[in-house]
Amino acid sequence: MIAEHYNIIHLSTGSIFRKAMEEENELGQLIESFMNDGQLVPDQTVVDVVEETISSEEFDNGYIIDGFPRTVEQAVAFDDLLERRGETIDAFISLYVPDKELENRILSRNEGRSDDTREKVNVRLKVYQKETAPVLEYYQQAKMFRSVDGTGTVDEIFQRILSALPKKR
Ligand code: AMP
Repeated sequence: MIAEHYNIIHLSTGSIFRKAMEEENELGQLIESFMNDGQLVPDQTVVDVVEETISSEEFDNGYIIDGFPRTVEQAVAFDDLLERRGETIDAFISLYVPDKELENRILSRNEGRSDDTREKVNVRLKVYQKETAPVLEYYQQAKMFRSVDGTGTVDEIFQRILSALPKKR
């Protein structure tokens, strides 16, 4: 919805990885065990995929990245990549949702994901606390940091996100 609103591309690292697994290509084989266990894919692999993806011309007018960076190492590598591309981040959106609600949403969404089981959700929440929560601290001081309440309906959350973002150009 955000990508559509701003007419920019939506890049989801998780979707790229799921597609690679479906295609059973080299990347898919490399990442499968991490994905299925609810663990993070190694930083270098993720950063290489992001760099290669955004090098395509269609990313020249802006993009929204969803699910990246998930570690401070990825954030540092992304800063370096952006500097080389002469780009800056307009906004970093942190959506806050209590663990219990995340678990309920994941267990009821029926998308057939191998990592959407109760056991894997617990692993993913632990990985989030250990690896991804520090990314918030990394960005928190920056002016473009936006913390948004991620509870409620999709429309409510979308409106909250839009009011936290710059006006359409
Ligand atoms: P998602 O679709 O964002 O929930 O991601 C699903 C899975 O893909 C994660 O649990 C990780 O195994 C992997 N993944 C996606 N994005 C990243 C990332 N930025 N860093 C490491 N692993 C990732």
